[in-house]
Amino acid sequence: MIKVCKFGGTSMADANAIKQVKSIIELDSSRRYVVVSAPGKRFKDDIKITDMLYRCYDEVVEFGTCKKSFSIIRERFVQIVKDLGLSLDINAVLDKTEKEINESKCADFSASRGEYLSAVVVANFLGYEFIDAAEMIRFDSHGKLNDDYTADKVYNRLQNVERAVIPGFYGKNFQGNIKTFSRGGSDITGSIIANGVKADLYENWTDVSGFLVCDPRIVPEAKVINQITYKEVRELSYMGASVLHAEAIAPVMRKRIPINIKNTFKPQDKGTMIVPNDQYDAKANDSVITGIAGKKNFTVLLIEKSMMNAEVGFIRKVLSVVEHFDLCVEHLPSGIDTLSVILGSDQLKDGVLSDLVSEIRENVNPDYVHVMENISLIATVGHGMARRHGTAATLFTALANENINIKMIDQGSSELNIIIGVANSDYEKCIHAIYKAFN
Ligand code: ASP
Repeated sequence: MIKVCKFGGTSMADANAIKQVKSIIELDSSRRYVVVSAPGKRFKDDIKITDMLYRCYDEVVEFGTCKKSFSIIRERFVQIVKDLGLSLDINAVLDKTEKEINESKCADFSASRGEYLSAVVVANFLGYEFIDAAEMIRFDSHGKLNDDYTADKVYNRLQNVERAVIPGFYGKNFQGNIKTFSRGGSDITGSIIANGVKADLYENWTDVSGFLVCDPRIVPEAKVINQITYKEVRELSYMGASVLHAEAIAPVMRKRIPINIKNTFKPQDKGTMIVPNDQYDAKANDSVITGIAGKKNFTVLLIEKSMMNAEVGFIRKVLSVVEHFDLCVEHLPSGIDTLSVILGSDQLKDGVLSDLVSEIRENVNPDYVHVMENISLIATVGHGMARRHGTAATLFTALANENINIKMIDQGSSELNIIIGVANSDYEKCIHAIYKAFN
């Protein structure tokens, strides 16, 4: 039995948290490979080490040295090592790291050092081997993870290593330079390592007891999801549920390795099990829907043209314009004579929106293009919906009862989720209403 455990920033925040991590690891001998984040926040207004490291980079660009910001990082690691009672010469490691940050003049390199330092400390504390992620994780020339190469590297590097600590969040690109994943990317590292060593379980230790049905800031009594499928998590993470990085599913999905989201500070809680579809136990949760997640600030372009359905290539032409502006399309619901293009509003600043609308007008000659801004998208996810009738009715009745005007509906053919668009001002009310309707 092999378990890969990833511990997030709060689990690394100070010596007490790291001691708790050690006790968790030592409770189960199959917890052989440990992936760590950089120390996160200890209290609400604290600054994450990764954020400090981005500041270091800015300081190097401006002043040629990161002395000021790095001193805060130094203080934090020195304190952790002291409180853990280690004889590790952390100042020597920090001196070298500071020098490398100054010399590299690279944001990714600088940001990656939080995980690097965390892993050095934790490996020393556990008495495990430190193995650098940069030795195993490769990005291709387009900056994308080179999956097969990486999986082979991980397998070869770790197959004869009984126990190791590996820094999360980064690897190397094809030119040999350090490259990070997007923020929260240590979750991806954990998944990559689990895939590479063919783990039986990927435990993702964080500071909450699993995925909640919806955001507890909106519904404080939101329940924990006991079991959820990979695809449902992808949908929820993509739509803003922040427990697990949206890209952390793909690596383990290949080998059907389950993920257990666990709480470092409440290890007795079962957490959420993320499993392939055919391992899903329909009785695990007590609701038809698994979760609700959403995001604010989308823009909808409603394009109308009579006889659109008969015009070959219409949608392609619209999408070519969108591609020309290098924009990501979120959803594309369509009718006989209408097409809605839904885009994240942050992509449409500085006049991009009006240029886009003009170019669409020029290229496809629509009857009209109507722009709706300040739209929230809310996904109600649950693969149980496919086997039942009445889910949509329950959802829409709940919203009607709250006088919420639905501006867009999109249900994929997989029946895994129903996505609705509402005004930003209805966002919280809408999530509340859906939660209440199904729980
Ligand atoms: N330390 C990185 C971040 O703050 C990566 C991670 O914690 O997963 O985003």
